[in-house]
Amino acid sequence: MLRPAAATPLELGISNLVLAGDWLHTDFPSALMERAVATGRQAANLVLLADGVRQVPLTVTTSRGPGLL
Ligand SMILES: Cc1cc2nc3c(=O)[nH]c(=O)nc-3n(C[C@H](O)[C@H](O)[C@H](O)COP(=O)(O)OP(=O)(O)OC[C@H]3O[C@@H](n4cnc5c(N)ncnc54)[C@H](O)[C@@H]3O)c2cc1C
Repeated sequence: MLRPAAATPLELGISNLVLAGDWLHTDFPSALMERAVATGRQAANLVLLADGVRQVPLTVTTSRGPGLL
């Protein structure tokens, strides 16, 4: 299924538009409110990056699990 990410509008050449919400794709495991917040931070970071302002950290879970081996 095609699902946009926070930066998809920018990648498509639509300037000054970023996305946030639980309906977006992320490259890391997330869902529901966590995804809404994570993509909100990604979107904010894209704006900060464009303005040359330091970005905020984004803490996410690993895609490979806890790594028992
Ligand atoms: C009953 C219920 C229980 C939940 N419990 C949990 C939980 O325990 N833990 C968890 O992590 N998540 C939970 N969720 C999911 C969580 O609420 C959502 O993942 C989160 O709110 C998504 O945030 P969002 O900002 O992407 O969207 P939303 O919170 O849905 O915000 C979208 C906003 O956009 C507005 N809007 C829509 N269309 C327009 C328009 N055309 N013009 C202007 N405004 C518009 C809406 O009114 C709304 O205020 C629950 C959801 C439900 C329904």
